[in-house]
Amino acid sequence: MNILIIGSGGREHAFAWKLKQSPLCNNLYIAPGNAGTASCGTNLQIAVADFEAIKTAALQHHIDLILVGPEEPLVKGITDFFENDPTTAHIHVIGPHKETAQLEGSKAYAKSFMNRHQIPTAAYKEFTADDFDAGVTYLQQHQYPVVLKADGLAAGKGVLICNNMMEARSEFELMLMRSKFGEAGKKVVIEDFLEGIEMSVFVLTDGKNYVILPEAKDYKRIGEGDTGLNTGGMGAVSPVPILTEQLQQKITERIIKPTINGLQKDGLKYKGFIFIGLMIDRNNDPHVIEYNCRMGDPETEVVIPRLQNDFVSLLTATATQTLHNITIETDARAAVGMVAVSGGYPGDYNKGLTINGLQQYNIPESVLFHSGTTFNQHNQIITNGGRVLVAVSFGDNIKEAAEQSEYLLQQIHFDDMYFRTDIGYEFK
Ligand code: ATP
Repeated sequence: MNILIIGSGGREHAFAWKLKQSPLCNNLYIAPGNAGTASCGTNLQIAVADFEAIKTAALQHHIDLILVGPEEPLVKGITDFFENDPTTAHIHVIGPHKETAQLEGSKAYAKSFMNRHQIPTAAYKEFTADDFDAGVTYLQQHQYPVVLKADGLAAGKGVLICNNMMEARSEFELMLMRSKFGEAGKKVVIEDFLEGIEMSVFVLTDGKNYVILPEAKDYKRIGEGDTGLNTGGMGAVSPVPILTEQLQQKITERIIKPTINGLQKDGLKYKGFIFIGLMIDRNNDPHVIEYNCRMGDPETEVVIPRLQNDFVSLLTATATQTLHNITIETDARAAVGMVAVSGGYPGDYNKGLTINGLQQYNIPESVLFHSGTTFNQHNQIITNGGRVLVAVSFGDNIKEAAEQSEYLLQQIHFDDMYFRTDIGYEFK
């Protein structure tokens, strides 16, 4: 089978690394990929939302299956594009249609889906500029903290937790009346603040059947001890020790099954990953914070290595609606991923820095995934983004795995390289 992965991050490197291990994978392409994916397959210099160029490449390379990494092409309708074109309709695309990708692309759409199907989530109301005054009244009567969410995609920045009315009113006005988040903020969801522990579960569905992949917890803040600015993710752990059998059962019965049934009831076909962000409250009850219509980054980098199934078989079963024949097998060991970023990230940072020490690394039990890396004209690997590398290690427990990942990153160097050493700290 010839496979094309869309995307260029650590998530896509982890996909490529796993697909490459399958005897069922013939030719593997990654568009646009990074310096790490180049060691697993052939990188194609195509932007993730350039559907015409992706189509040309897919036909030229006789692609059978496309695995979509990031949300942008999904929200823009890559699955519909391939399905509706008779010359590409035979190619399986793993990822939902444009309409269903609204579960991630629109917070109001996701909240209404959850309410319709009685899936536990924070209470909310949505407002546009037309009902600005009603929104202010709602904020006046609300308890604090309160959560304000720009409806559309805002690169993870559109969610604000406001501690008092003054702050909330001002942000609400900036979003609705002064286009703080542009189109994404034309509608605002005001949501109750939930307290608890966050974690994520991942489901792969063929539209009828589903399998549950290993869970993960990510670490979004730049600083040790979860301080400082939000990032795309500084690390992740899997498994998440708070996930007892009893909690897993609650998540399956109250959230996963109603989500899959809800998609069917609403007539939404779905072949792909569903990433469910959860808040576990003090009664050990799960609430959905968000749906994503794809895998997470850096969660994928700890989830995929723990998956023992053949990845091509899993994706084929998704495409052919035969996931009921699959039993997920998981490596019982813990995996910890640590992300090395360029100094200044998530603010301004340099690109093009030479990365040293990559060749020295040869540590069993570890994998080094690339995120923002590329080649310079001398074929050396250089940085090409804020998040640069993800060291993932296995251990008997989170502490051991974390120590190993830290050791691995210590062997590597680029100017102003930074990583958090406390990933998984609460479970050590
Ligand atoms: P991401 O960057 O993960 O895509 P996003 O922009 O889609 O984020 P959400 O995941 O909905 O936004 O929220 C971002 C973060 O804000 C969550 O990970 C969580 O920490 C916090 N958050 C969101 N909703 C709530 C809530 N109701 N109560 C408490 N915290 C919340």
